[in-house]
Amino acid sequence: MPIRLLSSEVASQIAAGEVIERPASVVKELLENSLDSGARSISITIEEAGKKLIEVADDGSGIPSSELELAVARHATSKLARSDELFSISTLGFRGEALASIGSVSRMTITSRVRDEQEGARLRVEGGVSGKLTKVGTTVGTTVRVEDLFYNVPARLKFLKSDVTERRAIDLLVTRYALAYPDRRFKLADGKNLVLQTAGDGDRRAILAALYGVDVARQMLEIQSGEEGAGLTGFISPTSLTRSNRKEITFFINGRWVHDVSLSTALLQAYHTLLMVGRYPLTALFLEVSPEEVDVNVHPAKAEVRFRNQDKIFSFVQRSTRKALLAYSPVPNVAPSLWGTTRTIPGEPPRHTGLDWAIGHDEELTVGNFNPSDPNVESQTINAQPQVTASESLAPMSTPQSRIPLLRLIGQIGATYLVAEGPDGLYLVDQHAAHERVLFEKLMAQHAMKNIPSQSLLTPVAVTLPPHSANLLMTQLSVLQNFGFEVEEFGPNTFQVRAMPALFMGSDPSFALRALVEDFEEDEAPLQNEVEARLAARVCKRMAVKAGQALSNEEQRALLHDLEACDSPRTCPHGRPTMIHLSVDMLERQFGRRGAR
Ligand code: ADP
Ligand code: MG
Repeated sequence: MPIRLLSSEVASQIAAGEVIERPASVVKELLENSLDSGARSISITIEEAGKKLIEVADDGSGIPSSELELAVARHATSKLARSDELFSISTLGFRGEALASIGSVSRMTITSRVRDEQEGARLRVEGGVSGKLTKVGTTVGTTVRVEDLFYNVPARLKFLKSDVTERRAIDLLVTRYALAYPDRRFKLADGKNLVLQTAGDGDRRAILAALYGVDVARQMLEIQSGEEGAGLTGFISPTSLTRSNRKEITFFINGRWVHDVSLSTALLQAYHTLLMVGRYPLTALFLEVSPEEVDVNVHPAKAEVRFRNQDKIFSFVQRSTRKALLAYSPVPNVAPSLWGTTRTIPGEPPRHTGLDWAIGHDEELTVGNFNPSDPNVESQTINAQPQVTASESLAPMSTPQSRIPLLRLIGQIGATYLVAEGPDGLYLVDQHAAHERVLFEKLMAQHAMKNIPSQSLLTPVAVTLPPHSANLLMTQLSVLQNFGFEVEEFGPNTFQVRAMPALFMGSDPSFALRALVEDFEEDEAPLQNEVEARLAARVCKRMAVKAGQALSNEEQRALLHDLEACDSPRTCPHGRPTMIHLSVDMLERQFGRRGAR
């Protein structure tokens, strides 16, 4: 083919592809426009996960009727005039592409009025072709209605995920923005159903409560930190409140939601050694830096940014978070330096837990099925996950790891470990990991018999979930029943737990429910056997006694007894060791009773 210029239709569809990828991208662009317009109140309505309809209405400045036709043209913006302003941008938009892009891949109608005009104007754009401007009576502000997204780009339509997934992306987006702008009123509705509504009174914790429930909101730690040129505000979860994935880690930079790997890394480093392996915090953090310090023009959807001085920002975020964490929460005893190498945060004294068994890593230690000859072992703490494949550790019927001998309880130390004596030396048992294993094997055995005894709660417990999780849970209520839970819808984003597996009686049912929902979020696949085992493992982890929890003598003994009865007593369902065995032989060598190796 000879070289030709692309027709403007094709060119604009290509350009639109960069900005408008899915319904949630439309919502994002329209939301940003409303925020830029100074709106106090923003109302979003969607139908069929945004595929059929997305409407965003605001009470902002509006667009003068004489400019409406220009507003939908490509590279038309009121927010930027000269190229040097690109490096000091204080609005969310500036590329002048969103309305043009949306208009080229949907049927879009904009209705808008400014304060100085008596009447408003309306313009319809279909597949990039503008209709005639009409005068309409309307209130001050702008309403953009986007119908039949991608109707003229069938290929794009095919790439969209299920309604549940697309809808979740929208819920996530709107809730994030609601948190970022607590002084604006947000409303999200799916058809006639209200999904989220915020008061716009500036109270971020109240929004957190609406999203995650009062209980979670109360626990979140507030951060307010500043140094020259940078400020960080928002909330982070204490170490006791975690998720199994990074999805609830949110960063805004100068009012813009960004996905920045270096910021998450800084955050996770601040939590380092305070969280279990595979657990992640929930955060909603809002970073303010002077506009010259950050380049927002590196990504068409503006989801990535570049910092002028990345190291400085990185270290600021890390220090601020770490400080907040240490100020609020006592550091739990995780990761004693069993291998003689504790990783520490630079500038901080190493933490000693009183449990520092400084034993050389070449010693003969039996840590579950951990392999001490692993060459990587030197840099690992006991927290490091031994390599156990999912099927190995989860399937209760797989080759049992060696059973443990009968143990004589000596006592509990640090409210975290049980000390016991066996025929061949000393056993240190991690009470949490051990209990996890015990619960897991019991639950899976009951599950295999298709008979998980369920017990009604005296007072049903109401659990509020973020809209995207609630939405997902709705589709999975029957699976919960298989696991002995009786859960009912109970108002918007709220569920009532009426019964739960008898095995967990006495623990907080909302913990179990949240653990289950997290798993649904991880994989949308229908739950097969393997997945159910994972599900069970996760719930058991949540329901197991925690480190730091004092146990009565009887409880300690019962736990050891139950562990002895397990098929795979030496690891928790996630593969972490439940116990450390210090053999008589090893003790003798340590005390120099026998020649050291
Ligand atoms: P950008 O936001 O990058 O400027 P858009 O295509 O999103 O580009 O919007 C083009 C212009 O239309 C904006 O610069 C703004 O002047 C106007 N506009 C769009 N949406 C609104 C709104 N909700 N309220 C007021 N003005 C708006
Ligand atoms: Mg815009």
